[in-house]
Formats: sequence, C-alpha cells, structure tokens
Amino acid sequence: MTVLLQIGRRPPDGPLPPSDGPPPPSAGAGQPPGGPVRPPDGAAEFKVFRSALGAHLLVSDGSRIYDLPAPLAARLERWAAEPDGTPADLADRLGLPLWDRPRRIDGTPLEPPPLSSLSLNVMQACNLSCGHCYADEGRFGGAARAMPRHTAYAAVDRLLAEAAPGADVVVGFMGGEPLLARHLIHDVVAHATRAGRETGHTVRFSLTTNLTTVRPEDARLFAEHPFTVTVSLDGDRAGHDALRHAPGGASAYDRLRAGLDVLARHGRPRHLAARVSVTPRTARLLDVLEHGIGLGFDDVGFAAVVSAPDPAYEIDTAAFAGFLERMVECGERALSELSAGRSYPFGNLLTALEQLHRGTHRPYPCGAGAGYLSASAEGGLYACHRLVDDPAHAMGSVADGPDTEARRRHLRAGHVDRAEPCRSCWARYLCGGGCYHEVSRRGRPGCDYIRGWLAFCLRAYVELTQADPEFFRRPPVPDAHPAADAGAAGLV
Ligand code: SF4
Ligand code: SF4
Repeated sequence: MTVLLQIGRRPPDGPLPPSDGPPPPSAGAGQPPGGPVRPPDGAAEFKVFRSALGAHLLVSDGSRIYDLPAPLAARLERWAAEPDGTPADLADRLGLPLWDRPRRIDGTPLEPPPLSSLSLNVMQACNLSCGHCYADEGRFGGAARAMPRHTAYAAVDRLLAEAAPGADVVVGFMGGEPLLARHLIHDVVAHATRAGRETGHTVRFSLTTNLTTVRPEDARLFAEHPFTVTVSLDGDRAGHDALRHAPGGASAYDRLRAGLDVLARHGRPRHLAARVSVTPRTARLLDVLEHGIGLGFDDVGFAAVVSAPDPAYEIDTAAFAGFLERMVECGERALSELSAGRSYPFGNLLTALEQLHRGTHRPYPCGAGAGYLSASAEGGLYACHRLVDDPAHAMGSVADGPDTEARRRHLRAGHVDRAEPCRSCWARYLCGGGCYHEVSRRGRPGCDYIRGWLAFCLRAYVELTQADPEFFRRPPVPDAHPAADAGAAGLV
C-alpha cells in the first residue's frame, strides 16, 4: 500500500473530523429524500495541485489534503483526463488508502437545524445611493420602511426559542443603513442580552454599515457588547465616492473616515472588518486592500458584485478572469507576509486558510435557510438578508416561526450534489454551489474564478504549513459574514 502524508492537523486515518456539512448519513442514505442522487463524476472526486514543495492531492469528500509523489500525481492527472472506472477502482490499482470508507457527503439533504443566527432588517432605507447595491438602497424593490420595535423584540425572542439549549447565537443588524434605526438597535441589544441571560444563551451581534452616521453612543455600544462591525469600503476617496453617493454631493468617504475617528475615540468593536464590493470600476485590488489595512481594519475582504440593479456594475464571466488575477496578486502579497511571520489581514485568504485547516467540507454555500434566517421589517422570515421580500425564499414569519417544510425544500434543492454543473466539479464541497441570491439572479458566471481562487488557496495553505506552522495555532479571524455563525460561509 502507498503511504500518503496528510497535511493539516487531522491524523491521516483518524476518526471522521467535525464537519461543517450535514450529519453522517443515516439508514436509507442511498435513497435520500427528494429522489436518488447520481454519484458524482469520478474526475470530480479529487484535484491534483502543485506548490513550491511538490505535488499534492485534494480529496473532495472530506477535503483531505495529501503530499503526492510526482509519478503518482502524473498518473492521477492522466486518469482524471480520461477516467476509467471509479476512483475506488483506481485507488485499489495504485494501492492508495483513499475512497475506502463511507462517503462523508452522499447527497442526503441536511434536516433544518436549530436556528443560530438571525439578521434583522431594521431599516429598509439608506442615506446613500449606490448603483451596485443589491438591496435597492435597502428597499428591496418596495417602499422605504423601518422595523417596528415589537417586531424586533419578537424576532429576538423567536431566535432564542428556536436555538439549541445553551447555544451561542448571533443577532445581525442589516439594512439599508441600520444605524438610521439606532434607537431601535440600542434597545434590541439590551433586550437580547437580558433575554439571552434568562434562556441560557450567549448572544453576540453583527452590524453592516456605511459608517457615515455613527455616533459616540453607537461606538460605546459596540465596545461594551460582543459586536462584529463590517464597514462597506470601496477604495480610497476617489474610488469610494465614485460608487457611493451621499446627499448634496458630500463625500461618503470623508464621512466614513469621520466614523472611524468616532470609533477610535469612543469605543471599538471586538472585530472591525471592511468589505469591498468589487465592480468593473474598482481600482487595483492590492491598492484597495493596502488602503483598508492602513485604515486599521482587522480584516479587509473582497466580494465581486455579481448581481446589481445596473448591469454596468456587475462582474461578468469575462471580467472574472481579471478579478482572479488581481485576487491572486493580493494573495501572493499576503502569503509572503504571513510566511515571514507578519500579520496581513486579507480576509478572503485568512478565511480560506482557516477553513482548509479545519477540513471544511459542506454541500451548501452558507447557512442561509439552515441555521441562519433574516427577518424583514414586517416580520417575514427569509433564507438570508439578500433574499428578503423574495417569495421564492420565504421561510415563515417571526409570529408563527420558521416554516420547516420550506426550509426542508430549500435544503433539498440546494444540495450541491443535485446541482449542475456542480456535481462534476472538484471544488464543490469547498464552494457549496454558489450564493443562492447570485445563482437565482445570474446563474453561475464565476466558476472558473472560484476554482482558480481555491487552487491558489490550496497552494498557499500547503506552503504556509511549512513556512510558519505556528500560524495555524493562533485563534482564527472571525468571519464577518452574517451566515458564518450558522454554518459554512466565506471560503470563496
Ligand atoms: S458553483 Fe461553480 S465552482 Fe462552485 S461547485 Fe458549482 S460548478 Fe463548482
Ligand atoms: S452567501 Fe448565503 S447568506 Fe450570503 S448572501 Fe449569499 S445566500 Fe445569503
């Protein structure tokens, strides 16, 4: 038998690792609800990749990573180009101890788990006007409105009632611009903290903001409670203001910088992240990244705008090639800094490294519709904050509770092994099949980008385990994505 050295903290043939995916298959897993799932294509069961240290193998099921002797790498690549039999037959022929155990992910949909994260769309209106905003300035195609207090309190109570006993839960504040509803946010934080103490849940908070209206009392709230605050930042002054328009021609960037000063003087959240929405007009990503790091954010991450009200702001299939190139440029800079033992908070790479090290493998892109839901201003529940007011993703109401059947249908339909072309993709248990919002609006224009970025992250992971093994012993950077606390999110 060929002995392969597994990379990462899990022993080569130890017990199944904790998974971000569904529970292990139960009896009858061969015929999962919703009909049988064809086994994935053999060539989609692994990926051979190379680093400065040699050749390596990613086994898709279980996200296991091994060192690979060069002749074996060449044989596996030849087989992937023209598969002949199943991967198990191939492993037998080559004497590889792979694909010899029950699959960790076998097409069985996840049963709706207890809720662990709920975002409240406290203000479906915004003080800025941005052409690339997926939320139509928070209105989601409807009228501007705020969440009534009784709805917000009931939403928190619903989250606590639907959470597992003793679990940590996250209340997210979204918009529009949530700080336009600051009095409500302050009251909800007090209510949730008090109610969580009574029910035995630890409550944490997240808030996504343009930071143009933050006040000292907000900063103190963020510092006194466990908050992750994510600021929308689109570049330096020129780049940011080209996308984000403040009333009366004022500079949204200047107001953001003033907001950072308020946080510095009056209280900083536990984690302060910047999220950059990348459009075809965004400057060189490395410059934007270094600008954000220079402003003192704990992490700076990029998200391509795939679906916008104005298609001129969308990254299309052709533009994804340039996006990948610029992401890898940022990744190379980060890898070189991290390898030298220096901090470099490039959020996309840090999240990917952490999840690869954890052995993340999952059949869904995120926790939406699973452990995570979002409440509209009227108290409707939806799969996530981007799918608010979309009847196709309605999941019950705050008053009546989550609609278990709707969640079950969502998790059945969303399983990555049921989606084409995902079931033929080696990256599927790292990617999860793509954001539901983007797939429902635009399909999957970014698959080559996703695979290219993951291939870079795999290489970076292997090289960093060698260059600075201590890196993986440090506490991970919290993921600012609101669904991250409710399951997998953020790898791509
Ligand atoms: S969305 Fe694209 S990259 Fe992701 S699993 Fe599906 S085919 Fe692969
Ligand atoms: S990744 Fe999931 S939670 Fe995030 S926007 Fe898309 S569907 Fe919503």
